[in-house]
Amino acid sequence: MHADGIQGYNKPLEKKAMQYLMKGEDFAMVRDVFGSDVFSEAVMAERLPKNVFNIIRKVIYEGKPLEASTADVVANAMKDWAIERGATHYCHWFQPMTGMTAEKHDAFISPTRDGRTVMEFTGKELIQGEPDASSFPSGGLRATFEARGYTAWDCTSPVFVKRDGKNTTLFIPCAFCSYTSEALDKKTPLLRSMEAMNRAALRVLRCLGNTTAKSVMATLGAEQEYFLVDRDFFAKRLDLSLVGRTLFGAPAPKGQEMEDQYFGTLHDRVGTFMHELNQELWRLGISAKTQHREVAPGQYEIAPIFTTANVATDWNQLMMETLQNVALRHGFACLLHEKPFAGVNGSGKHNNWSMGTDDGLNLLEPGNTPHDNMVFMVFLCAIVRAVDKYASLLRATVASAGNDHRLGANEAPPAIVSIFLGEQLTDIFEQMANGKADHSKQKDNIELGVSSLPSLPKDSTDRNRTSPFAFTGNKFEFRMCGSALSTSGPTFIFNTSVAEVLSEMADELEKSKDVEKAAQKIIQRIAKEHKRIIFNGDNYTEEWREEAEKRGLPNLANTVEALATVMSDENVKLFEGQGVLTKMELAARTEILYEIYTKAINIEARTMLDMGRRDILGAAHRWAGRLARTARALDGSGHASDSVTKNLQTATKLCDALDVSLEKLEDVINEASRGGNAEAQAIAFCEKVLPVMEETREVADNLEQIMDAELWPLPTYSEMLFLR
Ligand code: ADP
Ligand code: MG
Repeated sequence: MHADGIQGYNKPLEKKAMQYLMKGEDFAMVRDVFGSDVFSEAVMAERLPKNVFNIIRKVIYEGKPLEASTADVVANAMKDWAIERGATHYCHWFQPMTGMTAEKHDAFISPTRDGRTVMEFTGKELIQGEPDASSFPSGGLRATFEARGYTAWDCTSPVFVKRDGKNTTLFIPCAFCSYTSEALDKKTPLLRSMEAMNRAALRVLRCLGNTTAKSVMATLGAEQEYFLVDRDFFAKRLDLSLVGRTLFGAPAPKGQEMEDQYFGTLHDRVGTFMHELNQELWRLGISAKTQHREVAPGQYEIAPIFTTANVATDWNQLMMETLQNVALRHGFACLLHEKPFAGVNGSGKHNNWSMGTDDGLNLLEPGNTPHDNMVFMVFLCAIVRAVDKYASLLRATVASAGNDHRLGANEAPPAIVSIFLGEQLTDIFEQMANGKADHSKQKDNIELGVSSLPSLPKDSTDRNRTSPFAFTGNKFEFRMCGSALSTSGPTFIFNTSVAEVLSEMADELEKSKDVEKAAQKIIQRIAKEHKRIIFNGDNYTEEWREEAEKRGLPNLANTVEALATVMSDENVKLFEGQGVLTKMELAARTEILYEIYTKAINIEARTMLDMGRRDILGAAHRWAGRLARTARALDGSGHASDSVTKNLQTATKLCDALDVSLEKLEDVINEASRGGNAEAQAIAFCEKVLPVMEETREVADNLEQIMDAELWPLPTYSEMLFLR
């Protein structure tokens, strides 16, 4: 090559090298940034006197009580650390039944007599807060005049500093309960369920000869799906702004049929958004790891590395909030709704769940020969039994107005709960049901037929993307959870129901003289009794629906059907027996879920009325008027047009149809809102209002497809899904 040519290349090369250098800097930054806003164990070790640090570790890991004097020292260290990071306030951060998080900020200031201030934060302020509870959903647990509620520091989830604009605050993860100590939040039952699981799992482990584990924790890694749409489009649509999904909108000519979005290249703007998102999450110690484009246009996913279920749930809440905040800064709106757009995939949240011991053992790790891994087999069977026995309950924990659009809609798992075990484990299960399992099918290698490509070890099971509850190597992946829902619900139900089955097992094992034999017997019994819940085929097919019905598996099609099963005696006994929820708490939560469902549909329907009348009908009338004027003008010119006449007829017909439909919608909303208990109202909204909403949408979508594009008042699916 000509010397000049090489020289000519030098400039861009220099630029490239600079970019690499910057990447190198970024790498150093990730290490520095990661966890920099978390009052982690490492920070505590550095900042607390050694004896206090040892005490606080005992409080966190062994549940020992926290003395007031220790709390004062810890609070003071937290305050100094937070102030160094620019914090002026602290807040108790909790998760009421709204599904959102709540925070009330207090400044550290404490005025002195001479008119100045010192910065103070006491142990009492750290441990306990007393927000007015009367404006949070309580499901009748507390009347407005009994307003007291308490927040209590959950020291198992680390304290952190959060920056909102210029406001920097010390966040203290908390549980939230009523004056009479009923749980009013999503965290308390989760923590109770983790303790229940720990107790039961340790008993079983001891029986099976494990003497080293001190505790067993539920672990969780939640994959979060979301959509990004341009903020300008979002602002022009009342439906997206108020309810997070499009209530109107004809399909775009292109959807996801080319299968070209999944894992597709990132657009620059989205890449930049993700970069900042990761930085923010890493600061908070959230191990955001995986990111990619999803199946639908404009849809993405992010997943952190798993951690204990309690912290993972806090992380997921923070992740949802951070997604939305960072999106706005980049001119996007982040949609967390389960079904923002009709006709393309909705968004879910895959809850990867397992159980691990404090000394690092994953109890769902099968090893090479699962059939003779007794610990694995026993815990696997416990899960199989728990999921079969409490399938309806599991279904009910993911019931919401939003998720109803997704479950069973041929893109997400159906509303029928079943378990995918894969070939190897199903084979072992069958061997057990017929007597004793004595071999495990072995893994092969994958040969690509090209000598330069490596031979790949094959997993023992293929993936099954259609199963609601799939064994994926060394964990279960629960895929029914909606993208907007807290991971607390499904997780505390797994924990509690598995704890229940493990307690039954422990009762049996502790009594037996020959543990090995007793365990075999249990496994065999479960393999026989709960075979029906295992299904490895395609869960999206009609045949599976029929088959599931034959097997007697519940198929609860929507939220009201699912919630109707919650208050069964069996469920009450489960929750009370494991100390997770009292009957009253369970009833209150169910009532809240009914109320939230009703309110969600009520708001959607009223938004539809508003948009239907003021945006769409108004525009359609203008269109009809324009056509009428054109028709008259053309007539006058002696060139009457059939297409104008035809369009005018269609326009007036559709305008009238939309008007009729909107009138009807208003009537059914009013009718459904009339009295009745929470359940009756929810049923009325489900049965009366939803179908009329669908009718109304159909008319409007027809209008959109033929109306003058210039007059259509809303951003279209093509614009929202494809413009970046
Ligand atoms: P995918 O299902 O898309 O293949 P991955 O296999 O990468 O996704 O894992 C998804 C999630 O499962 C991640 O958040 C990961 O940390 C989590 N995960 C892995 N092992 C466990 C475990 N033992 N317990 C809980 N979650 C886990
Ligand atoms: Mg997954």
